[in-house]
Amino acid sequence: MNFASSEDFAISRDKNDPLASYRKKFLLPVAGGTEAAYFCGNSLGLQPVSTRTFIEQELADWSAFAVEGHFNAQSPWYSYHELLTPSLAKITGALTSEVVAMNQLTSNLHMLMVSFYRPSGKRRKILCEHKAFPSDQYVIESQVRFHGLDPGKDILEVLPREGEHIIRNEDIIECIERNREDLALVLIGGVNYFTGQVFDIKAITSAAHRAGAVAGFDLAHAAGNIRLSLHDWGVDFAAWCSYKYLNSGPGSVGGAFIHERHGEDFSLPRFAGWWGHDKNTRFKMGKNFKPMKGAEGWQLSNAPVLSMAAHRAALEVFDETGMDSLLEKQTMLTAYLDFIIRESSPSLEIITPPARGSQLSVIAHGHGKALHEALLAEGVITDWREPDVIRMAPAPLYNSFYDVYRFGLALRKALGQKN
Ligand SMILES: *Cc1c(COP(=O)(O)O)cnc(C)c1O
Repeated sequence: MNFASSEDFAISRDKNDPLASYRKKFLLPVAGGTEAAYFCGNSLGLQPVSTRTFIEQELADWSAFAVEGHFNAQSPWYSYHELLTPSLAKITGALTSEVVAMNQLTSNLHMLMVSFYRPSGKRRKILCEHKAFPSDQYVIESQVRFHGLDPGKDILEVLPREGEHIIRNEDIIECIERNREDLALVLIGGVNYFTGQVFDIKAITSAAHRAGAVAGFDLAHAAGNIRLSLHDWGVDFAAWCSYKYLNSGPGSVGGAFIHERHGEDFSLPRFAGWWGHDKNTRFKMGKNFKPMKGAEGWQLSNAPVLSMAAHRAALEVFDETGMDSLLEKQTMLTAYLDFIIRESSPSLEIITPPARGSQLSVIAHGHGKALHEALLAEGVITDWREPDVIRMAPAPLYNSFYDVYRFGLALRKALGQKN
């Protein structure tokens, strides 16, 4: 495809976009006095128009039924989380028994590590990516300390090579192989939040298994953004949040994947709660914990229905489009953004590698936060990371080629060039 930084080009791409009508299904924020060109769906996805109706239904059922809503609501709260499972299975490439919406991302990582980080003897190290998202670093360090181990010795970080920004998959695999005697767990992001790099989940999982280790992934930036086949790839466990590419609202309910081969392994240690107990006998309120089969057996608490209602509204949109059409548009849209950035200024360096989803991360050499603010004044919302990185993620559900064109205009104006 030959791209052009012209208004005509952007408009004609939008005309030919089979997903163009989905933009109207989202509420776009205002910036610089106009409807924003919003590129922060990797931090907080936009609100679907339908979210309000889904939440209002639960408010109405709560007021009408109170406690009886657990069984009498239009969508009974007792089993509300089950409504989300088929969509999550499609998005993550899992069996429905392998996924569950519950808790939030960081708490899910902890709960899953209770079961899947079992250091013993020499085999006690965790391999992770350099500069993982801070919450993940805190999870890993505190888990290592919880087992009485030393984060300085038992956490292996794989770094980018000298002069490079991204971590090579082959270096991750080499590190796994080199530590095959000592490795308990590989825990890496599916997509690095800072660089937008997509890791080779399949190859990393195989290498971890060959080394006798467990493979877990944080899919915060991957769920709804890249193609996932967690079941076929043999991933042991994964967790994600729903408020980034999955558009389910600030701090909304998270999700977890546990591979089928572990789902009925009741010998695994786990921190239990009543919602993980066999649902047929849960309300007998008996003493002995009998876990549900599959991922549901890791649940703790009854469903946070208001946040799950928002999740449901957002997942319904994914069910309509499917991941294939989203990814097809994503490829074009992000390639167009890539083109516009390269054309606009040699002082902008894209560090995201070709293995990417929606996000591009750019070093704005010689520019400070003023650049980000100048974009904002033009109605273009991007994400700024000190000292000089801009992250942008055009989301195929609601971003248009025209948004990307507008970004180019705003960028050239901010850089003091003629349009
Ligand atoms: C967004 C994100 C988080 C946030 O965790 P919460 O528990 O949802 O607050 C954690 N890890 C990664 C990699 C993220 O991108």
